[in-house]
Amino acid sequence: MQSETLNSMPFHADASGFYGDFGGAFIPEMLYANVEALRNKYLEIIGSDDFQKDYQKLLRDYVGRPTPLYEAGNLSERYGARIFLKREDLNHTGAHKINNTVGQVLLARRLGKKRIIAETGAGQHGVATATVCALMQMECIVYMGSVDMERQAPNVARMRMLGAKVVPALSGSRTLKDATNEAIRDWINNPESTHYIIGSVVGPHPYPDLVARLQAVISEEIKSQLLSETGNSNPDYVIACVGGGSNAAGAFYHFLNTPEVKLIGAEAAGEGVSSGKTAASLVVGKKGIIHGCLTSLMQTEDGQIVEPHSISAGLDYPGIGPLHAHLHQTHRALYYSITDNEAIEAAFELSETEGIIPALETAHALAVLKKLQLKTTDKVVVNLSGRGDKDLSTYMKILESR
Ligand SMILES: *Cc1c(COP(=O)(O)O)cnc(C)c1O
Repeated sequence: MQSETLNSMPFHADASGFYGDFGGAFIPEMLYANVEALRNKYLEIIGSDDFQKDYQKLLRDYVGRPTPLYEAGNLSERYGARIFLKREDLNHTGAHKINNTVGQVLLARRLGKKRIIAETGAGQHGVATATVCALMQMECIVYMGSVDMERQAPNVARMRMLGAKVVPALSGSRTLKDATNEAIRDWINNPESTHYIIGSVVGPHPYPDLVARLQAVISEEIKSQLLSETGNSNPDYVIACVGGGSNAAGAFYHFLNTPEVKLIGAEAAGEGVSSGKTAASLVVGKKGIIHGCLTSLMQTEDGQIVEPHSISAGLDYPGIGPLHAHLHQTHRALYYSITDNEAIEAAFELSETEGIIPALETAHALAVLKKLQLKTTDKVVVNLSGRGDKDLSTYMKILESR
């Protein structure tokens, strides 16, 4: 399905938004005009000097980029390799999500939109969206599963303090998938005034490509930082956790066509891939459509979506971005399934060895280190997607039982 001209970049979306067999835009009639307008304009807008000037300035002065690439000495010693942490946790609001929201709010303004809606799982995307809306003085409505509102209460408070309206999603498992359904419903009802900021590389084309491009700053920085630190811009491994897959897409982006760089994604296995309580969409999923996109989806024999489970709200999604379904199918990237317990162990390990408390999502990427056969010369970049403040109530429960 790749067009001739794009064949040289086999891991990028074609004109219809397909990555090999996955992707596309399967949307209700009512959304067609909105998605079409976005598709027609996004490349021109985000490629323009005017946009890039505003975007780069905000990334530098407001978000705090470039984020450091920190060579973690104690962790390196423990695993017998050179381990570098890309510190997305040091971004304003504490995760990579704001790279995307800054870009999409700037895009929304250029599309003449006045009202912003978003879905959120862990609350990081909601907080990032509410933050940039406060900065740009735009109305902001965030949909969030009521279960997530409970387990991520500090982020709910942050969004409200930033002036956003947080609307609970009360259907299904009352988590990220259900919040996304509510956001799509809102967009159908308010197509003219509203831009929907999707928080990951999911949804109908052009969102997966748009979000990947806005997160690609991560691997752009990794390359130049590694070059000045080690004399070579390519690491041996890049590891990132995968919910929808945006921090991984950003960390992989500029390495996709460099096969010597091994790319590894960490999915949430929950209580185990065969336990029935999992969010490992690539392992247990089959081809299906969710939120406008053909991808690998957790579903029953007759195509009903299976409720996902993960200890981390940000990975608790039954689908995955189409780029990752394609990278998995073509073996360009490898995906490990990490259980709740393995993630918790990795979170405590990083805290105790490096003095960095990671988000529970990020801990899934760190847990991969135990599964690799590393050489002392290997350079490994782990994308530290976010910080652990929002997960403190989960960590407190674990500390009590230790
Ligand atoms: C949202 C989130 C994730 C998962 O989203 P991706 O789109 O897969 O990156 C991972 N880590 C953190 C800290 C998050 O907030």
